[in-house]
Amino acid sequence: MTATLSVDSLGAISVVSEQIGIDPQVVEDLVVANRILFNQGVVDAFGHVSVRHPGRGDRFLLSRNMAPGLVCAEDLLEFDMNAVAVQSDPPRQFLERFIHSEIYKARPEVMAVVHSHSPTVVPFTVSKSTPLRAVCHMCGFIGTQVPLFEISDEFGDGTDLLIRSAAMGASLARSLGQSDLVMMRGHGSTVVARGIREAVYRAVYTEVNASTQLRAVQLGEPHYLSDAEAKTAAKVMDSETQRPWGLWKAKALGL
Ligand SMILES: [Zn+2]
Repeated sequence: MTATLSVDSLGAISVVSEQIGIDPQVVEDLVVANRILFNQGVVDAFGHVSVRHPGRGDRFLLSRNMAPGLVCAEDLLEFDMNAVAVQSDPPRQFLERFIHSEIYKARPEVMAVVHSHSPTVVPFTVSKSTPLRAVCHMCGFIGTQVPLFEISDEFGDGTDLLIRSAAMGASLARSLGQSDLVMMRGHGSTVVARGIREAVYRAVYTEVNASTQLRAVQLGEPHYLSDAEAKTAAKVMDSETQRPWGLWKAKALGL
């Protein structure tokens, strides 16, 4: 029998929200985002999601170094723009937290970031002939040209491909540019949005697009969305993120 979870299983949301000085709903959404991304197969033991502090633009929240599917409110840490945890004596943190700090620095309008190694996206980061691009209306935000971060361009041969420093994070943010998604060769992808629910939607549908595109190319050359179609579809779907959020949350919490 599967245990039935509830929002109570997400940890001490009100205590943590008071400590950080943040709306409890933001704390709950960040914990739920971690659970959804695991439940939807976007992250496994690795990958992470953050949200910019709504009241302090130079701070963001990210969990301590742990599997996203197990994150509770008490596991959330507050970081400054140098990716330094503001609390004293913090627990172990993600090596790749610079992805978040440098993107928040470079893109003031970005409020949430998801970094993942989702399994169907990675093949598109290494293919020299078939880049990821929008194949259906749900994935219009992907557009027709997704930037690719090539770590060896600036950091040479022999890295472990991880974003281990502020310099690497800044380089990734430059590759992202004004896009919503950046592919990372031999590693994964990072997606940004104006809110946490939108970021989760985009992370899930980046994996869906990859899986659909992989099947479509087996049938021959796909008819991709045009630039204009991708833009129109993205605008419509950006206002529809509440429906999947409710469903995915119920599923992730076993409600
Ligand atoms: Zn990574």
